[in-house]
Amino acid sequence: MSADPQRGRVVVVSGPGGVGKGTVVQALRDRNPQIAVSVSATTRPPRAGEEDGVHYHFVDRDRFMAMVDAGEFVEWAEFNGNLYGTPWSSVRDAVSSGAPVVLEIDVQGARQVLEHRTAALDTTLVFLEPPSWEELAERLRGRGSESEDSLRARLAIGREEMAAAEWFDHRIVNETVDAAVDALERILAPTSQG
Ligand code: 5GP
Repeated sequence: MSADPQRGRVVVVSGPGGVGKGTVVQALRDRNPQIAVSVSATTRPPRAGEEDGVHYHFVDRDRFMAMVDAGEFVEWAEFNGNLYGTPWSSVRDAVSSGAPVVLEIDVQGARQVLEHRTAALDTTLVFLEPPSWEELAERLRGRGSESEDSLRARLAIGREEMAAAEWFDHRIVNETVDAAVDALERILAPTSQG
């Protein structure tokens, strides 16, 4: 992280693919509309119902790499063959308004935020974990129409991602969405400084 936005609260919500980060962050937002959620850029094609500029900024690979070269990302990573990154602009706008901003990103991105932690940006890293490895594996299997190879690859990635939990500031077990949101709200409360 090279830019120097105003000091503000940035909460990273990460964890293995399939753990339910998106659902938990959406529920947090529904309960707390004042919390900003950073809109990432991605080279992944939009899914049905996803809007450009709302769910993601959908860009092609050339544009994404130009943004990388221009230092426009807080962090970026390749996940499952697509590129994802958090634009500084998305974080800066929220931070300057004084609102906490949530980044919902994969474990590789969270690692970059950790490695570039600076006094300029108040960051808290939260790891959302499944109640058990078996449950996560079940969820990944349940995603359906994948080949055995692709499923094996996802499970291997999942194992690596689970091992990352130890370097996070907080861990939340995603037993239920409501309980996970309660826990996130406690972390986000102004008195809790990570
Ligand atoms: P999906 O394609 O399902 O929307 O997201 C795939 C993965 O990419 C999820 O684990 C999601 O948290 C992660 N992701 C989304 N945006 C970003 C980002 O800006 N940076 C990083 N590192 N990961 C992201």
